[in-house]
Amino acid sequence: MRCHGFRAVHILFAVIKFHQMSTSLIFDLSLAKLASLLVEWGEPAYRTRQIWHGLYRNFWNTPEEFTNLPGALRLKLTESLEFNILVRSSTLQSSDGETVKTLFQLNDGKAIETVLMKYDPFEVPQHEQIEYSGQGRRTLCISTQVGCAMGCVFCATGQMGFKRHLSSGEIVAQVMYYARMLHDQGEVLTNVVVMGMGEPFHNYENTMTALDQLNDPSGYNFGARRFTISTVGLVPAIRRFASEKRQFNLAISLHAVDDALRASILPVSKNYLIDELLEACRDYVAVTGRRITFEWALVYGLNDTSEQAHLLASKLKGLLCHVNVIPLNPTDGYSGKASTRLRANEFKNILTRSGVPCTIRLRRGVDIQAGCGQLESILYKSIQK
Ligand code: SAH
Ligand code: SF4
Repeated sequence: MRCHGFRAVHILFAVIKFHQMSTSLIFDLSLAKLASLLVEWGEPAYRTRQIWHGLYRNFWNTPEEFTNLPGALRLKLTESLEFNILVRSSTLQSSDGETVKTLFQLNDGKAIETVLMKYDPFEVPQHEQIEYSGQGRRTLCISTQVGCAMGCVFCATGQMGFKRHLSSGEIVAQVMYYARMLHDQGEVLTNVVVMGMGEPFHNYENTMTALDQLNDPSGYNFGARRFTISTVGLVPAIRRFASEKRQFNLAISLHAVDDALRASILPVSKNYLIDELLEACRDYVAVTGRRITFEWALVYGLNDTSEQAHLLASKLKGLLCHVNVIPLNPTDGYSGKASTRLRANEFKNILTRSGVPCTIRLRRGVDIQAGCGQLESILYKSIQK
């Protein structure tokens, strides 16, 4: 009897798993795919627009909310497509209420993090305050993979290894979840940074498909320049990104400009010499006319010395860029320590004196770090120096 019970449970799980794997996620559908699906179902063409608007303008995320559709079509949507893409398993809020981190469970049980950072209006440039009626910046940090294959030694996500890529729909769903939450609070999302778990250029297609979909003027219409993609520096992908001329901002995690040192922190950089990477960056700026952001996690005694600062300044000379330095956020798997405020200031001053714009960033939501990937490290806030 027990044996049969066991088997029944196994079969049930297998059926559920098969169902989950075989059902398309609603946000995985492009406008064109949705349109052809509806044609297949014999629906009139205008239904496509109704559903698209429901998803991306009204922020509906369950078939029941589509009350403008006939019941039979709502049923068909329920049966054929997966709407329940992200299940919130926990939310942590910083004590000042300005940073909200959410752990989501995906359909296969794996987990990702997403972080919302709220900035007071006075922290936001004047022109944005007007645009958003004094609301202040609302920046969402999203993930593109479960884990990461790049193995950067100080990064908690790198330490966990690569699990899988996110689909474009799983990336879109993170943004739409917060878009809806803010909408319900009478606010709007203003910026999205692709700096959560994973290397976006290792999941290039899905990341671009997701951002393009969110940028679609007939849908959510989130401005391309409000996205920032951060990469560890995969040169062929940077070149591809430049050639495709998208308007998304680009950030490169540099952390060292000495090849041996960089390879010891970011193992993947063994494949691309620093001069090759910076040449790709110069070509990107030449082709797009856009400023590049370089990220530099300051590790005490390792890459926060004046020699390193001078070397960095010499390498970046004449390049349209901005450097963000952030004291390392220590992780269990790495013995390095964060730079002191004094050393961070010295580092910044050397760059600034050499004509390279630099900002020191400070972590945000420090009280909600426990048990996270590396996301906490980018929860920063400018220190006005
Ligand atoms: N894979 C991409 C984006 C995700 S990581 C990338 O590497 O750019 C986002 C940023 O957090 C990167 O600049 C990364 O180097 C940085 N980071 C990761 N772990 C960190 C830590 N422990 N302390 C400080 N910054 C860290
Ligand atoms: Fe991956 Fe970025 Fe972490 Fe490196 S820093 S392991 S590229 S997520």
